[in-house]
Amino acid sequence: MTVDQTAGARDTAPRSAFVPVVIVGAGPVGVTAALLLARRGVRTVVLERHHDVYPLPRAVAADDEVRRILQAAGVGEEFAAIARPARGLRLLDARHRVMAEFPRATQGAHGFPQTSMFDQPELERLLRDALAHRPECDLRTGVEVVGAGVGVGQDSNGPVRVTFRRDGVEEHLWADAVLGCDGAGSLTRDAVGAGWQDLRFEERWTVVDVRTSAPVRSWEGVEQICDPDRPATFMRIGEDRYRWEFRLRDEPEPDHERLRELIAPWADLPYGADFEVVRQAQYTFRARIADRWRRGRVFLLGDAAHLTPPFIGQGLCAGMRDAHNLTWKLARVLQQDADERLLETYESERKPHARHAIRLTVAMGWAMTGGQDGAAALRRGLLGAAVRIPGLTAAAARDRATVDAPELIDHYARLGAAHRARTGIDRARS
Ligand SMILES: Cc1cc2nc3c(=O)[nH]c(=O)nc-3n(C[C@H](O)[C@H](O)[C@H](O)COP(=O)(O)OP(=O)(O)OC[C@H]3O[C@@H](n4cnc5c(N)ncnc54)[C@H](O)[C@@H]3O)c2cc1C
Repeated sequence: MTVDQTAGARDTAPRSAFVPVVIVGAGPVGVTAALLLARRGVRTVVLERHHDVYPLPRAVAADDEVRRILQAAGVGEEFAAIARPARGLRLLDARHRVMAEFPRATQGAHGFPQTSMFDQPELERLLRDALAHRPECDLRTGVEVVGAGVGVGQDSNGPVRVTFRRDGVEEHLWADAVLGCDGAGSLTRDAVGAGWQDLRFEERWTVVDVRTSAPVRSWEGVEQICDPDRPATFMRIGEDRYRWEFRLRDEPEPDHERLRELIAPWADLPYGADFEVVRQAQYTFRARIADRWRRGRVFLLGDAAHLTPPFIGQGLCAGMRDAHNLTWKLARVLQQDADERLLETYESERKPHARHAIRLTVAMGWAMTGGQDGAAALRRGLLGAAVRIPGLTAAAARDRATVDAPELIDHYARLGAAHRARTGIDRARS
């Protein structure tokens, strides 16, 4: 893709190639942004390289504010049909003894369960189904966005030229705005001239979704195993489906035999027991935030703008908040001639919030993996703050525990620094 912003181009661009908004990437954030714009009458073209949704295991938890956003996008009931409320979060020690429990209400401030469990590919399919019913949205799959470059005058508010390839043929579109929802490897980020700010977390984890009819010890919430030797996360994600995440050191991806050993504290799975690994994938969890989120009328949203480990389930949620924050402003500017300065508030509002969530997640990561040297009371305090993050926007104003979280973050950041110094992680990275 070449993103080119040229004042006056609106007059020279062929009418057929002009759309109000081009969205790069039909992941959950891009499609949600398209649906939110459609409900305000704004037409979009969504460009996506793959034909189907990404099938590997990713997000499983969303907060109640995200349920409100999905409702605003017109898929509230469809999501309710695939979601289950979670009871909360439990913190277990290495011997799986409960250190602390943080319940989540089945009805939070937004009128929905404070945490809902779901399967991301199912969510993405229902979003795409909804998109197919919106005449304002034109989803073009099998389209490769091939590069990014902003020309002279890049900070102008003039139309943006998007170039992409389909079946080896190069095509162009002109748009009043481009939303870069193209994920972690975003090319739109180059168009915006953004770089990553590293928030200092990088670990290799394996994520395993299992289907079994065998009895599994589960309490209908999320379990975090705070064991520096084998930190792990466990949750039930469906009738007979379960998610385990294990931190990997210098070791190969566990095979089925090793997985049975790792899972043994939750389920006894002798040979012959019903046990199917539905999906297994290895991820390097990182904590990063783009140093700028906008250039002219090109914006970054979702994983293109921020990356976070999944420990408090905030990656997708943050992207949904981006889409919700930006789309009504863009609709106002495009349709009702609202002041262009309204668009500046997208980055100034969303970036500090996203950074705060990432820092809290990183602190949680160190609490889980940074050894037993942290005081248990402080660890519980941090987790108490962390499980409240879904309502962060409102909660920050009213909830002392959330407001106090930075102190806990600093404490765990110090523990993390000490741990990194001990283990030589920083030395290895530099
Ligand atoms: C193991 C794991 C667990 C997670 N758990 C949670 C959780 O519980 N809760 C939570 O909130 N988040 C969670 N997340 C994070 C969540 O999955 C991501 O934040 C979310 O998928 C980001 O959505 P997105 O639309 O921004 O990007 P993506 O889902 O990456 O979508 C980007 C889209 O852009 C397309 N694209 C990219 N480049 C181009 C191009 N050049 N041309 C055309 N198309 C392009 C891609 O094909 C893709 O479809 C988890 C992540 C992982 C890995």
